[in-house]
Amino acid sequence: MKDYFSEEPFACRDGCGLNALDPALRSILNQGREKFGRPLVINCGCRCKKYNAAVGGADHSAHLPAEKVDNLCHGCDIKVLSDITRAILHKIFCDLGIRRFEVSNKHLHIDNATWLPRPILASVTFKGVPET
Ligand SMILES: [Zn+2]
Repeated sequence: MKDYFSEEPFACRDGCGLNALDPALRSILNQGREKFGRPLVINCGCRCKKYNAAVGGADHSAHLPAEKVDNLCHGCDIKVLSDITRAILHKIFCDLGIRRFEVSNKHLHIDNATWLPRPILASVTFKGVPET
């Protein structure tokens, strides 16, 4: 499988150097990108605790390194600006096994943090996450 992504979009946005996306999630993203047939813009990947707090992320956000599991980040926000694109991506990633989604008017959050509760909307909210 071709790797469509550089390292940069997954790195923590505050410049701390954290860049530890779960390779399994990266593989799913690549498969999704392949099916989608168009570039996927990553709004947010890994977050350190400081940055997660700064953007109002949940305490147990899948963007944080999973300290009790593998110390990898298991969440990713994909930029979406239309309902149709969001629905297409939701279907693609659902077919690829993703079961945790969060929707906003600017992104689709996906994660493979299977140890976190589902559905994500009942357990996770994001406030003021900066969009790029
Ligand atoms: Zn950081």
